[in-house]
Amino acid sequence: MSFDTLGLSDKILSAISAAGFDKPTPIQEQAIPHALKGRDILGIAQTGTGKTAAFTLPMLNRLEKGRARARMPRTLILEPTRELAAQVEESFEVLGANHKLNVALLIGGVSFADQNKILDRGADVLIATPGRLLDHFERGKLLLTGVEILVVDEADRMLDMGFIPDVERICKLIPFTRQTLFFSATMPSEIQKLVDTFLHNPVSVEVAPPATAASTVEQKLVSAPRESSEKRAVLREVIRNEKTLTNAIVFCNRKRDVDIVNRSLRKHGFNAGCLHGDMDQRSRMATLDNFKNGEITLLVASDVAARGLDIPNVSHVLNFDVPIHAEDYIHRIGRTGRAGRSGTAIMLAGRADKKYVDAIEAMTGFNIPQLQSASEDKGKSHSETESGNSHKEHSNNRKRRGGGTSRAASKASSGQTAPSDAVRPSSTKAPAPKSEDTPKVSENTSNQKQKQKVVGLGDHMPAFLTRPVRPDSK
Ligand code: AMP
Repeated sequence: MSFDTLGLSDKILSAISAAGFDKPTPIQEQAIPHALKGRDILGIAQTGTGKTAAFTLPMLNRLEKGRARARMPRTLILEPTRELAAQVEESFEVLGANHKLNVALLIGGVSFADQNKILDRGADVLIATPGRLLDHFERGKLLLTGVEILVVDEADRMLDMGFIPDVERICKLIPFTRQTLFFSATMPSEIQKLVDTFLHNPVSVEVAPPATAASTVEQKLVSAPRESSEKRAVLREVIRNEKTLTNAIVFCNRKRDVDIVNRSLRKHGFNAGCLHGDMDQRSRMATLDNFKNGEITLLVASDVAARGLDIPNVSHVLNFDVPIHAEDYIHRIGRTGRAGRSGTAIMLAGRADKKYVDAIEAMTGFNIPQLQSASEDKGKSHSETESGNSHKEHSNNRKRRGGGTSRAASKASSGQTAPSDAVRPSSTKAPAPKSEDTPKVSENTSNQKQKQKVVGLGDHMPAFLTRPVRPDSK
C-alpha cells in the first residue's frame, strides 16, 4: 500500500515523501483512514512501529481548516516524558513542514513565562506532560474547551509513572465531542478502564503483540556478580569485547546507579553520559543530542528517561540490571534494532536475578542464550586471553605509563586506564583511577602480566629507587 491511498492531503504527502517514508507502516495503514473519518482510535503498539506519524498525519489533515485562538489549543497530545514530547514536536516539524502551524510544548523544566507567551499566540498543537499542563490550567493560562483532537500516547507508561489521575482529569476538561486517539503498548486493566470511560466506540488497531521483541535484535545474557564494582568491571569487559558496538544505551533500575555507572565508565575513559528523571530539562536534551550526534557513545539511563526514545542507529542495549518488570525488557531492547536494522541486547544477570530473567523469558517465549563473560574466561588458554582487547589495552597502558610514579604505574597496569576499542574513549580525559573498581580487572590483567615477557624490571620503577638518598649522619 502507498501513502496516496490513505486520504491525506497533497501538502502532507509531499512532506511524507521529503521525510523519506516510502510506504505506511502497519499501524499507519490501519489507523489513518479511520482517524481521518473522525473515529476514536485505540492503538496497541510499541514505539518503533511508526505510531507517532499514525496520529501526527491525520491531525495535520484536520488542522488544515480553521485557526487557533489565544490560550485555546486546537489539539492536545499528552506524553509521559519530556523527551517523548520533544520527539513528537520534531515529528510535527518534519511532517508538518508545509503547514504554518503553531506547535507548543508544555513540559517541566522550561519557564512558565516563555510557555505562556506561546500559548497566548494560540496553539494549533499542544504537546504536554500531564502535570505541567494542569499547572498551566490551574493558573488560568489555558482553556481546554477548544480541543478537537486529544492524543494520549504511551498510556501504560503514564500508568507506571502515576499520571493516570491527571490524565483522567484532563479528559474530563475537554469537550465530549472531541476525537480521541489513544496509544498504549500494553493493556493493563487500569488502561482498559480509561479506554472504556473516555473513548467512544473506538477502532482497535493492534500491530504487534505487546510482548514481542523485534526479531532484528540479538539477545544475550552475561553472568555477573551481585557486588556493584565487580559488576561494573563485567560491564566494561562486555563493552570492550563487543566488536560491533558503536554506541549503546546502558540501563540501570535505579537513578542512583545511573549516576554511579556513568561516573565509573567515565573514570575508566569511556565516552559516557547519563539520562534520568532528576536532571533538568536543558541537560537532558543536551545529553540526548550528544548521544544522537555521536559525541557520547554510551548513554546510561533509567527506564523513565529512555522509554520510547527514538534514536536511530543504537547498536547495543546493555542491561546493567535485569528489569523488575518483564515489559520493561521489551521496551529497553526496543531501543536497538529499530526500523529493521540489526541490534544487540546484552543483559548482566546474577543468581539473584533468576526469577526476573525467568519472567522475561516466559513473556517473550525465548530463552536468552548465555554469553560467557571475559572474566569467566580466566582459566582459558593463553592465546585466547592475550588475543582479546584486554591485551591491547594492557600494552597501551604500558606505553602510556612513562613518567608516572610507581604507584600510578602499578594502578595503570591493573587495566584501569582508557580502553581503546569500539567505543573509543577519550584517553586524555580519563582521570586517575581510584581503588573501588579494582577486583575483576586487576585479577585479569595480573594473569596476563604473568604471561608477558618482562626484561629486568620492565618499565616498572620500584618506589624505593625514586626516594632521595639520605647521607649517613655518622
Ligand atoms: P515511532 O514508532 O513513531 O517512534 O517511529 C519510529 C521511527 O520510524 C521514527 O524514526 C520515524 O521517523 C520512522 N517512521 C515512521 N513512519 C515511517 C514510515 N512510514 N516509513 C519509514 N520510517 C517511518
